[in-house]
Amino acid sequence: MRDRLMGRQLKGKLVLATHNAGKLAEMRELLAPFGVMAIAAAELGLPEPEETGASFVSNAVIKACAAAERAKIPALADDSGLCVAALDDAPGINSARWAGPARDFGAAMKKVEQALQAAKARPPFKAHFVSALAVAFPNEETQSFEGKVFGELVFPPRGGLGFGYDPIFLPDGFSRTFGEMTRAEKHGIPADGSPALSHRARAFQAFARACLAN
Ligand code: IMP
Repeated sequence: MRDRLMGRQLKGKLVLATHNAGKLAEMRELLAPFGVMAIAAAELGLPEPEETGASFVSNAVIKACAAAERAKIPALADDSGLCVAALDDAPGINSARWAGPARDFGAAMKKVEQALQAAKARPPFKAHFVSALAVAFPNEETQSFEGKVFGELVFPPRGGLGFGYDPIFLPDGFSRTFGEMTRAEKHGIPADGSPALSHRARAFQAFARACLAN
């Protein structure tokens, strides 16, 4: 099935199965060069399904399938999060939940710092972001793609760009956090085909190779 789907090219309209404004903006920018019309789930009034999966991939598949079934067009979903080595990879799939119902990521970053203190962890605080992208075609199996970026956490948070945990994440080999990088720096796709920087852009590169026309 996977081989058959590898040839499945996306054209026309696509639902972006996310209600997260930061992710939506990044995914729209990533899709822009491919001539795919990206419609946000909220624009179609699609509800957010419950994320009951035990992994990033299973949650991305739940979101993509729910949107494709309802909208009757292909859907692309991302499930992503921050994994901190000294916290046994928490918050992981619970990254959004750590920000509470108010989606307060200042509080979530503080919570990570306090959890590191409670664990008596010492810097460097190794961490990585994961993004699982799932694409669902109505009445067909889904395909998924994963991207990761490794780095360390810095406190206090630095930079007002990006979203979520960006201001505490310093990718390996860089002196600026994701919160101090422009969107193009964080998730730009290199023209020479070399790996992009962010987890979402890396997952997107794999998705684009499989499902989008050049
Ligand atoms: P979910 O995929 O909707 O469950 O949410 C994942 C959460 O992880 C987001 O709400 C963000 O807080 C965090 N996250 C995922 N990707 C990024 C990123 O690129 N930068 C900062 N935080 C991120």
